[in-house]
Amino acid sequence: MYGDYNRDQWQSFEAVRRVLEALSGEERALLEGMIRPYMDFRNRLDAFTHRRFESFCRKTCFDEGPAACCGFESIFTFFADQVVTLLHSNSEALRAIFRVLERPNRNRHCVYLGKAGCLWKVRPIGCALFFCDQAKAAVFERRPEALSDWESFRREEKEYTWPSKPVLFDELETFFMLRGADSPHLYFHRSPGLLRVKKRAGLPVHQTFFCETSRAKCSKDRS
Ligand code: SF4
Repeated sequence: MYGDYNRDQWQSFEAVRRVLEALSGEERALLEGMIRPYMDFRNRLDAFTHRRFESFCRKTCFDEGPAACCGFESIFTFFADQVVTLLHSNSEALRAIFRVLERPNRNRHCVYLGKAGCLWKVRPIGCALFFCDQAKAAVFERRPEALSDWESFRREEKEYTWPSKPVLFDELETFFMLRGADSPHLYFHRSPGLLRVKKRAGLPVHQTFFCETSRAKCSKDRS
C-alpha cells in the first residue's frame, strides 16, 4: 500500500466491500431504502451543478488550466460516502478504485481523479458541495438566485450529516459496524467533536443505537 492516505482509504473501502458482499437481499434492500432520500438530494444537487457550474468549470479547469479542486490528498471523506458510492459501483468501478489505491499517486491531484473525471460513482459530499472562489464569484455574480440554491443545498446536507439529531451518515456507520466493519473514517463514532454534538443533543453515543430505528423507518418507507 502506498502512503497513509491510500492505506486508510483502502481500508474503508475494503470494510464496506466485505459487508456488502455478505448482506442478504433483505439487508441490501434495507440499506437501499435508508439512502433513497439522500440519493434524491444528490441527484438534485448534481442537476444544479450541471446547470450552473459545468460550463465554467470545464472551460476554466479542464480546457485552460489546473483545477483548484481535486487536490492531492486534500479530500475529506466520511465512511458513509464510501458506502453510498460502493452501493452504486459495478465490479469494474470497484476494481478501478482499488487499483489506484494500490499504487503510488505520482501526480499532484486526488488519487481518484482519472482521465474521465472522478472514479467515484457518487462523489463524496464534501466534493459535491465544493466550488472554488473563482467559480462561485463567476456564477453567483451572473446568477444571484444560484447562490440561494447553493446555500439551500448546504443546509439540506446537514440533514444527513450533522448529528444534532439522528442522521443517515451516522446510521450507515452503525449498520456497518454492527456487521463487523472497522475503518479510520468512522467519525460519527470516533470523532470527539461529532460525539460531543451527539451527546449535547441527547443522542446515545454507543454503536448499537440506530439499527432498530433504521429498520422501522425503512420498512415504513417500503410499505
Ligand atoms: S474524490 Fe473525486 S471529486 Fe473528490 S477530489 Fe477526488 S477526484 Fe475530485
